[in-house]
Amino acid sequence: MSRTAEELEPATARENVRAATDLYAAALPGLMLLGVALPLYFLSTIDQFLLYLSPLELVPTYAAAWLVIAVLALALFLGCATLLRLLSASRLRLVHGAGTLVVRGIAASTCAATALYCTLVWVRTFGLLTTTPMISPLALTALLAGTVFAVGERRQRTLHRLGKYAALSAGLGAVTLVSLPFFVHWRTTAQAPVAPAPGAMVVPERPNIVLLTIDALSAPHVSVYGAARPTTPGLAEFARGAITFDHVYANTNFTTPGVASILTGMRPWSHRALQLASWPLDATRDASLPALLKQSGYQLGYVATNPHAGARKIGLGRYFNFAASDRIEGIPVCSDRLAAYLPYLCPASQVHLFADIAVILGWLHPSHDNREFDPQLAIRPALEWLRGTDRTRPLFLWVHLFPPHSPYAAPSPWLGMFDASSAARTPATSETRWIYLLQQAPPARVRTLAARYDESVRYVDHYASAFLKAAIATLGSNTAVVVTADHGESFEHGYGAHTGPGLYEEVIRIPLILKLPGQLHGERRGDTVEQVDIAPTLAELAGLKVPVSWEGDSLLPHSGPARSRDEFHTSAFSMNFEENSRCGALSTGAVAAIEGRWKLIHYMGALHYPLMPQLRDELYDVQTDPHELINRIRAEPLVARHLRELVEAELQRYARRLPSTWTRSCTGDELPPPSVLTHQGPGPRLPAFIG
Ligand SMILES: [Zn+2]
Repeated sequence: MSRTAEELEPATARENVRAATDLYAAALPGLMLLGVALPLYFLSTIDQFLLYLSPLELVPTYAAAWLVIAVLALALFLGCATLLRLLSASRLRLVHGAGTLVVRGIAASTCAATALYCTLVWVRTFGLLTTTPMISPLALTALLAGTVFAVGERRQRTLHRLGKYAALSAGLGAVTLVSLPFFVHWRTTAQAPVAPAPGAMVVPERPNIVLLTIDALSAPHVSVYGAARPTTPGLAEFARGAITFDHVYANTNFTTPGVASILTGMRPWSHRALQLASWPLDATRDASLPALLKQSGYQLGYVATNPHAGARKIGLGRYFNFAASDRIEGIPVCSDRLAAYLPYLCPASQVHLFADIAVILGWLHPSHDNREFDPQLAIRPALEWLRGTDRTRPLFLWVHLFPPHSPYAAPSPWLGMFDASSAARTPATSETRWIYLLQQAPPARVRTLAARYDESVRYVDHYASAFLKAAIATLGSNTAVVVTADHGESFEHGYGAHTGPGLYEEVIRIPLILKLPGQLHGERRGDTVEQVDIAPTLAELAGLKVPVSWEGDSLLPHSGPARSRDEFHTSAFSMNFEENSRCGALSTGAVAAIEGRWKLIHYMGALHYPLMPQLRDELYDVQTDPHELINRIRAEPLVARHLRELVEAELQRYARRLPSTWTRSCTGDELPPPSVLTHQGPGPRLPAFIG
């Protein structure tokens, strides 16, 4: 008996040691992710964060990223531990050994990929290797390094030593979680409910308002605006009972500042949502269109299918009664729901690690069509909200649809409609090259991408027009509708997609179709208008006083008081200041000024973009040269000087440094307080065709 026990004891001890070794091996990949990959990736993007966060705010941002990665690390640990346990139970030593090797290989590959990627990011800041596609070679090298490290006794010891440092670094990262309760103010501002102003409850004649923004919809690609391909038959039908504005400029060239301009009535140089994960100034948010509508008794709802276009993420969530945003398949890190609980999650989502994890998940689950951003995922909850909500108070619904944003491949039957070739038919192959990188693509490839983009426009047109019909049928004729975009999309000048300093027509000319309550007949307006004119128009329809801080003018066709658009106010401005600090003076970027037929693109400061050509101010006659092929800056010095003076005068007013607090919540104290909100009676006098 005692002999058997003696034999058993070492066997049990061996088992225990093996189980502990297995657990440690299973923890290694997660530890590398949390303790090596996250800090290195964070450091490699730190300069970007500092454009819109104070150094102190890096702490909660890191904490938010840490939490998300910790969830992934835990899942990875559980997966690896289960695998090793199952293999261990099989009693086949060879199989178990192979399993341990794979798990260690994953840990080593994670480390190698991180080191390689972050070195590459650093090298690219010197302008080197910017053109070489690096993802596949990088992944292969990391795999190879992982395999080499996983085998061999001595290398395994090195890996385990690295694991200890990773555990220490992950533990230090966990300490940043303590900061989260101290940084809830932004979340509080975004979430606290706003009570309607007393006495503003029942004013039934005020119209319901539906705002439909379509991401990256370029007016030159919309057939309502004369595009050669029949891209928007649905919107054309809608426009037959609405006012179509022919010359509309987005105030910027990417999502966050564009959406912010629509909702705040201010241009980016004022609202200062200058980066993708940034948000408008506090004072700007308090005087925004949703804030005013809410205070006057409107019920507000929104659905956004671009993770960066949600009202919560730009700090306007508190003004909405209903939000079903991020109705996209999969869970983006910067999701509306997660952001509601974790402040600084959207800034954290800018750590490239998240994008790389998404790429890896994409490889594991390749999607063959573009259903991820299906417009129906937004439209269904939006219509449900309209149908289920009390009608004694007027409604404001904002829907933001993601297509035709890249990747361009639309699902069937739209895919192949304008280009029958087999090229660029999946999300992966129809992703464009951004900013000045498109100049590297062969012309045939650019033509195919443009055709796929047009197919995607046709795809969104189908659902957008169906949604508009259903919304009007639900709400009745006392409904105002606006259809527009946050910005356009570029396939010209070697300039792809959007963002960056490019402010060419394709990327800043957007559609704007306004259907007034009861309007039956179509009308076209030829004056030059801007995104910031949308908020004053809707405010006037809702019978609200327009705050003096707003930069646009109402577009309603009436001769109302003081602020109506007239012949002296014909200039429009578009801008990109993404390489400036949110509260600092605006010294680097691009501003376009458009007056009548003339458009000046003015470049400021030292711009840093890969492969960017030499940029000097450009002047175009956009009436005779809509593709901006002939720069008239030398031929028309007087026009150029006039427009430059116009830009300089505006920059004098808006481009200065703002007083900032210990967080990057600039106080924006130059803004006048929002005016007292009073409902001004039955609303504007509308033209004769309005029923
Ligand atoms: Zn966008």
